[in-house]
Amino acid sequence: MSTAEKIQNVGYQQIDHWIDGKSTAPVKGKYFPTLNPVDDAEITTAASGSPDDINVAIETAQRAFTSFSKSLPKERERILCKAAELLERDRDEFISILVDEIGSPIKKAGFEVEKGLAFLRAAAGMTRQMTGKTIPSDVPGKFSMSIRSPIGVIAAITPFNVPLIKGVRLSCNPIALGNTVVMLPSEEAPLLSNRLAKLYQEAGLPDGVFNVVSGNGYEIGDTLTTHPDVKMVTFTGSSVVGQHIRELCAKHNKRMTLELGGKSPLVIMEDASMKDAIGGAIQSIFMFQGQVCMGASRIYVHENIFEPFVKQFSKIAASLGRGDLRDPDTVIGPIISERQRGRVRDHIKDARDKGATIVTGGEWESNRCQPTVLTGVTPEMTVYAEETFGPVVSVYSVSSIDEAIERSNDSRFGLSAGIYTQNISDAMRYVMEVESGMVHVNGAILHDEPHVPFGGVKDSGSGREGTEEDIEAMTEWKWVTIQM
Ligand code: NAD
Repeated sequence: MSTAEKIQNVGYQQIDHWIDGKSTAPVKGKYFPTLNPVDDAEITTAASGSPDDINVAIETAQRAFTSFSKSLPKERERILCKAAELLERDRDEFISILVDEIGSPIKKAGFEVEKGLAFLRAAAGMTRQMTGKTIPSDVPGKFSMSIRSPIGVIAAITPFNVPLIKGVRLSCNPIALGNTVVMLPSEEAPLLSNRLAKLYQEAGLPDGVFNVVSGNGYEIGDTLTTHPDVKMVTFTGSSVVGQHIRELCAKHNKRMTLELGGKSPLVIMEDASMKDAIGGAIQSIFMFQGQVCMGASRIYVHENIFEPFVKQFSKIAASLGRGDLRDPDTVIGPIISERQRGRVRDHIKDARDKGATIVTGGEWESNRCQPTVLTGVTPEMTVYAEETFGPVVSVYSVSSIDEAIERSNDSRFGLSAGIYTQNISDAMRYVMEVESGMVHVNGAILHDEPHVPFGGVKDSGSGREGTEEDIEAMTEWKWVTIQM
């Protein structure tokens, strides 16, 4: 039986919040529809949270913290290993939710599961890495050391586009370290987080350690991020919401990691392998129909290969599969919501009206935007600088590595970047001079692993995610001395 046949829409029941290890109806009794982005058909309804629900979830997480913070590494390790085992067992169900809830082509959904497994397994290892230090003391006979402890309740806020990757990552690392979590998933993806909560429970996670409140972030987010019992906010989403959270965290003295938007550059020099560069560029911008933070939405190509590159790249872009999401050949699915579709449409229209050339694409097939390649994009066009978050890419011609670096840095974002070249000097200059949290040479610029410092600079974020980085961010130091 093929994967496509095996993974069918499983049918979805109405979902409540998940608080204290059980489904919990919203205090105000309100629910909102969850739509399948392919045709905007309602697949179920989800609890619409209010500030009261957030407060109950935080009180629960705070209570659970009292005992969970004292749990042993081997206990948390066992839970996280078991969670990975269960995700592997229930892989098809998770894939199905990703296909139906966010319009994920099946290959991208499978990729999320693989990453989720990696994060859970790496988090299991973190439980034994909460080490401290012995410190030399200037005082005779004084033994000095520092020890780490978990910090408390962590607010984890996730975006719609990678609800499994971020849902797992923003929960398993805090849990590995003995913290408790209140998750606010994107209103476009409440089902996935609810299913994740059930998986954790089956894995043996004590009640109250992982809680999920669904609803409209614009209405309930501030209650979560400013609550006195929340010690840290770990947020992935747009730069606009991120900036708002940054200000609140500063005002209310909370730790934060912010993983935000991007407008990532990819440079292709004259000596690059054309085949590799085109393959990398296609993957870097069109995966999940361009709704990826690291998407290479700006491509700078050396002038001597500009024309053949644009021709071949556009031809492949135009041929990307736009069929059934459960067909492994499908790459381009629907844009998640009418709000997001509106932005993609506006960017294309604005570019067209102001004189850009649409080499391929630019039209819609129901809720799907055709892979769209633009040339002749100028700074007056919205698409030049703003994140489109759709399958839209601007290709520019550059004459040298200096110009490629300068143009790459001409952005308020700095998440990921990449260069294709055989010239080690050009590659290293680019690596050292590009203003970006991550940079890849001769490879796709969409990349993530559990133990790397993942994140961006400028408007793309503050802080980094990663096993080491999260141990630093999600634990508290205590300095201890013993006078002998
Ligand atoms: P979004 O900012 O609209 O929403 C993200 C989350 O924030 C949602 O859960 C939403 O409910 C919540 N939210 C809204 N207002 C809030 C408030 N006042 N307080 C607290 N939470 C609030 O983003 P989105 O449209 O879901 O996701 C797309 C964006 O996320 C893009 O900009 C993309 O680049 C970015 N993203 C970044 C990364 C990364 O790792 N850097 C990864 C994935 C997505």
